[in-house]
Amino acid sequence: MLVVHGARVYPGEGLPYEADVAVVGRSIVAIGANLPRSDCQVVDGTGCLLCPGFIDLHAHSALASFEDPLLTPKILQGFTTEVICPDGLAPAPVADRSARQAYLRALEGGGPAHWGWTSFAEYLDALAATRPALTLVPSAAHGAVRDFVLGSGNVSPTAPQLEAMRAEVRLGFEAGARMLSFGLVYFPGAFAGTEELVALAEVAAEFGAPLVPHVRNEGAGVLDAVKEMVEVSRRSGAPLHLSHLKCLADETLIEPLLAYVDESGATFDQYPYGAGSTLLASLLPGWAQEGGAAATLARIAQPETRARIAADVAVGLPGWENQLGTLGPERIDVDGSSIADRGGDAVETVLDLLLESDLAAAMILHYASDASVRLVARDPHQLVGSDGIFGAHPHPRLYGTAPRFLGRFVLREGLLPVEEGVARLTARAADRLGLADRGRIEVGLRADFVLLDPDRYVDDATYADPKRSPEGVRGVWVAGEAVVRDGRVTGARPGGVLRR
Ligand SMILES: [Zn+2]
Repeated sequence: MLVVHGARVYPGEGLPYEADVAVVGRSIVAIGANLPRSDCQVVDGTGCLLCPGFIDLHAHSALASFEDPLLTPKILQGFTTEVICPDGLAPAPVADRSARQAYLRALEGGGPAHWGWTSFAEYLDALAATRPALTLVPSAAHGAVRDFVLGSGNVSPTAPQLEAMRAEVRLGFEAGARMLSFGLVYFPGAFAGTEELVALAEVAAEFGAPLVPHVRNEGAGVLDAVKEMVEVSRRSGAPLHLSHLKCLADETLIEPLLAYVDESGATFDQYPYGAGSTLLASLLPGWAQEGGAAATLARIAQPETRARIAADVAVGLPGWENQLGTLGPERIDVDGSSIADRGGDAVETVLDLLLESDLAAAMILHYASDASVRLVARDPHQLVGSDGIFGAHPHPRLYGTAPRFLGRFVLREGLLPVEEGVARLTARAADRLGLADRGRIEVGLRADFVLLDPDRYVDDATYADPKRSPEGVRGVWVAGEAVVRDGRVTGARPGGVLRR
C-alpha cells in the first residue's frame, strides 16, 4: 500500500481539504485524516498540493512514444493522460504510408521507419506495444480518413465514398477513439465541405463523442469558421469542443468570439501562450499543397509556382489565413530565429526552408498579447491542451503548458481560484472525454495523481530555451505507479492506449 500523507487534496471538482490518500494496486482505496501508515510506502506530502493527474486535451504524441515511451516532457509537468490525433491528423487509416509520414513528420515526428499498419486498430496495437508511461486516448481523425478513402486531391466524395468514410470513422470509434478531430487548415481535410463534416459528425454522435475541430480559419474569419462547426454540431447532434481557441489576426475579435462560443454551449481548449506552432508548410496557399507532400515539394521547386505563391502571400486569397502576409516575417520563427532575421526575401526563405527539410519544418508564430491569452484563460468554458510538438527547438508549451496555466496564471497571478484551475486540468477534461475512472481523487478511481510544491511549480521553458521542465513536481503516479519522483522520471511505464 502507498499512502500520500498530509497533502492539501484538490479532489478535481470542489474545494481542497487536508487528508491522507491510500492506494492499493491501481486504485485509490481510502481517503481520510491520519490513515494507518505501518507497513506502507509513505510519501510525505506536507505543504504540497495533491491533484488528480492532469489531462492534455490536445497532444501531438501519435508517434512520439515510438521514440520516447516515457513522453518525458509531458509526465514531468504532471500529465497522466493525453488525447492524441488532433487536427484531423493521424497515422491511420493509411494507404500511402510514405506520403502520410512526410506530411505528419513536422507535427508528430516520423515514428518507426516502417509503418506496419493500415487500419486505425492496427496502429493503436503498435502504439500500445511501445508501452507509454501515461495513458494515450485516441481520436478518430477526419483528414486521415479522407486521405485513406479519397486520396490527397481537392475532390468531393460520391455517396458511396462518403459511406466508406463514415465506416472508417466508425471503425475508429470501435477501436477506441473518444473524439472526432478535424483540421480544416490541413490537407486533405481542408478540402471538405460542411455537408461532409455533418455526415461524419453523425457517426461521432452515435458514440456520444465530441467533435474537436481546428476550425477553417483562425484569422479574420474565425467567427464564421466557429459558426460552421457549431452548425455541424447542431445538425449532427455531436457535442462540440474547439481546439486551441484563439484569433491570429485581430485581438478585438476575442471578446465577441468568447461570447459566441459561451452561448453555443461548446467547450474549448487553450495552450496558455501568445504564440502558436505548426507546419511551416501551412504558410502556403491551399492550391500549392494539393496532392500531398511530393506534389507540394515539386511545386515549390519551380520558379513559376514560387512566383505565384509570392503573389498570393502579397495580396491574399479569399478565405485563406495567409499567416505570412498577415503576421509578417518578424513574427514567425523557425529553429529559434525569425524569417526576417535570415535576411533576403521572406517567401523565398520559407520555400527554401521547406525544400531543405523535405517539408519537415515547424514554425512558431507570435500573434497574441499576454492580456488576450489571459482573457481566453479566464473564460469558464476553457480547458487545457498543450498542442506540444516534439522537435529540436520546440515551442515551450511542450514542456510548460500545465505549470504555466496552473503555476503561473492560477497560483501566482490568481487569475482563477486554484480549485477552478485544477478542475479544468482534471475532472472537467475527464468529463469531456467520458472517462469516469479518472480526473478525480475519489475512492475506487484510478490512482493517477500529481504532488506539487505550489511555491516552486511554474513554467521554466521559454522560446529561447524551450526544453526546460518545471521544478516543484514531487511525484507523478499513473495507475498507482510512480512515473516521476522528486522531479525525475523513474522509468516506469504503467500507461497504455485506452481502447473500448
Ligand atoms: Zn491545431
